[in-house]
Amino acid sequence: MDPRSVVRRPHVPSSAARGRWPLFAALVLLCASGAVLPGQGVVVLRHANLADGARGAIATNAAVVIRDGLIAQVESEPFTPPAGATVIDVGGRYVVPGLIDAHTHISTLANARRALESGVTTVRSASTSNFQDVALRDLVKQGAVTGPEVVAAGVFITPELGETMLADARLGALKDGVVTESALRAVVRINLEHGVNVIKTRGTERAGLPNTDPRKQTYTEQQLAWIVDEATKGGVPVMAHAHGDEGAYAAVRAGVRSIEHGTYLSDSTLALMRQRGTFLVPTYITVVDLTRPGGDYDNPILTLRGAHMLPRLAETVQRAHRIGVKLVTGADTDYGPESLSRIAGEVASLAELGLTPLEALRAATTVAAELLGIGARTGAIQVGMEADLVVVERNPLQDPRALADVLVVLSNGRIGLNRLPFGR
Ligand SMILES: [Zn+2]
Repeated sequence: MDPRSVVRRPHVPSSAARGRWPLFAALVLLCASGAVLPGQGVVVLRHANLADGARGAIATNAAVVIRDGLIAQVESEPFTPPAGATVIDVGGRYVVPGLIDAHTHISTLANARRALESGVTTVRSASTSNFQDVALRDLVKQGAVTGPEVVAAGVFITPELGETMLADARLGALKDGVVTESALRAVVRINLEHGVNVIKTRGTERAGLPNTDPRKQTYTEQQLAWIVDEATKGGVPVMAHAHGDEGAYAAVRAGVRSIEHGTYLSDSTLALMRQRGTFLVPTYITVVDLTRPGGDYDNPILTLRGAHMLPRLAETVQRAHRIGVKLVTGADTDYGPESLSRIAGEVASLAELGLTPLEALRAATTVAAELLGIGARTGAIQVGMEADLVVVERNPLQDPRALADVLVVLSNGRIGLNRLPFGR
């Protein structure tokens, strides 16, 4: 789904303004060169219980030393921090790897901060209207803004571009539809020229609009294969929105890396996903949002639709888990002020649907990092990895709902949130 259509669009820089970014970036770096960026220097988390999907069990009373944004040491207490270090004594609370949201639509700085403060240190964009995700990725990397690391998807490859044409005037040539081989390849290439990390397309229609049927297939296997082929030439994977089974099956056969939503997947499609290593990002928490007042979706038709979808998606997640499909968390929100979908809620939902708390945590950390192709540098508390860390009050391996109680967030060693005095 995609909350953008019901959320006010933010102001974004025009393509002319984007041309000035290199100059702006140079100025930022110049201004920052005399000062120490927040991710630099040494930070030590003391008296921590480490709960990590790679480790499996809790490592008790540990100290984590963070140097220049990376985990430099994991030691046992008592531990003497190096002189000059910023010491955060977490007092026996739990440190988990930063959570990964593999399906977001963040397009403002305020929303990026809101995502980070919910414990999410990495997001995979599932498209924005105007390449805001690409700029956000680069701004976070520079240290110019506070937010999670972004894996950017650029603009959605969908039969009717509509407002998306504003993202790049070359899309005007495709105003009559993106269905032919040349049109599909052209939109992939325009995305690649903007520097995206992943291509987002669809196998079926949307769920988040009252007049669409999410079960209906939109692209054939051949059309999806052209998209995958063009993306592969550019070295990036493809993620496919698909609720209905036929559209999802076509996308899996075409070689996409992940199916997004997957509400009505059959056992045979799930078996093929298992066989091919295709990930499922069920975004269950956003379908919960559909069924409830408020949130990103507040519409009586969508409430009824959500009531149809929710039990079916629950059953699909259970079958996917049983068959051995790799499950990954996505909150499918733009993290706007009205948004209720959070990764902590998705982890708790997966646990309620039958994953063990450890499996549910992995869906938001190690397995998610594998999907994003960044498992070597984030998703676990290991020496050499990025210091993407979250402190929570209680043990998430006993109760995954503990992940909602975020006290401290570090992303690449930068302190994005510290409300420790609030704890206990
Ligand atoms: Zn979405």
